[in-house]
Amino acid sequence: MKKDILSLLPGEIEEELVALGEPKFRAEQVFSWLHRGVRDFDEMTNLPRSLREKLRERFALYRPKVLKKQVSQLDGTIKYLWELRDGNAVETVVMQYKHGNTVCVSSQVGCRQGCAFCASTIGGLVRNLEPSEILDEVLFSQLDSGREISNIVLMGIGEPLDNFDNVMRFLALVNHPKGLNIGMRHISLSTCGLIERFEDLAERDLQLTLSVSLHAPDDETRSKIMPANRGRGVEALMEACRKYYDKTGRRISFEYAMIDGVNDTEKHARLLAKEAKSVAAHVNLIPLNHVEERQFKPSTAGHMKAFIRILEESGVNVTVRRRLGSDVDASCGQLRRKMQKSSAGSAEETAREDS
Ligand code: SAH
Repeated sequence: MKKDILSLLPGEIEEELVALGEPKFRAEQVFSWLHRGVRDFDEMTNLPRSLREKLRERFALYRPKVLKKQVSQLDGTIKYLWELRDGNAVETVVMQYKHGNTVCVSSQVGCRQGCAFCASTIGGLVRNLEPSEILDEVLFSQLDSGREISNIVLMGIGEPLDNFDNVMRFLALVNHPKGLNIGMRHISLSTCGLIERFEDLAERDLQLTLSVSLHAPDDETRSKIMPANRGRGVEALMEACRKYYDKTGRRISFEYAMIDGVNDTEKHARLLAKEAKSVAAHVNLIPLNHVEERQFKPSTAGHMKAFIRILEESGVNVTVRRRLGSDVDASCGQLRRKMQKSSAGSAEETAREDS
């Protein structure tokens, strides 16, 4: 099988080239073409033809195909459905904020974490994404949309810490000065709390933001809606967060989707405040988004207000996440994998308002 050259770092491409009897300096040229979106060795015009042929024989290159592109009429959010090399398809979202464009990337085809309120886990996990496939989500979202990407959130389909090695390699690629060169401080990684990976992550000493999808401050509620809590528990999660913060000095962000009658009582707010303070975490409240297969409803405005007041009065730093792309189902928890064996071709669709 041909090697996936886009998943390789410059030093590794160099080794490959040296093994082929080629000079080292070519590696940087190849890397830089790849990271500008070139997906045909013949377009690498500063390489001798003999080298282009060797590369073609040895390495595979694939260009993800846009199966569907939806543009929100409410806020300009774009949602892409990409066809991957094996016919699977994942979604990517491009959002516009005052501070720049943020891309939300998927890290797996499907998800096995089973959160009761999330669309991404319906149908389970199919496979991990390769580093090159995650990179292409960023690169081709930027190229297709013409919007320069300044921030990345690993908050699409999948659990990034369940695909640890590929996600770490993706970060090294996207952060590389000769590639897209996106700074770690502009990257957030979100996890449902796979604490056995926190130490590994802390040891890499990346300057990224770790977001923890908490959604409930007590085991009874959390285990009910997040199977990942069973056998781990909130106390162990807080301990892991504390260690992470101590080691990296980077504040953690708790994501908390407000679900009517499930996690939005005063008791939940008080306990959440206590935990957030104990690990100096910032709390990001997300009004629950609609997922057709799920019975949950978002908290009422009144409950949200009361909840926020308790957090603020306890001295917790709290923000409410803006809902973007809701008319194209591009909001948190609404992304889902698709199987698209028969290609639908490229279609652009503009959502109707208030559909
Ligand atoms: N698996 C990782 C990455 C997904 S990030 C994680 O769990 O963090 C997507 C975020 O949206 C997570 O915080 C997730 O819990 C949240 N989410 C899932 N379904 C949602 C819904 N219906 N409404 C609002 N947020 C939701």
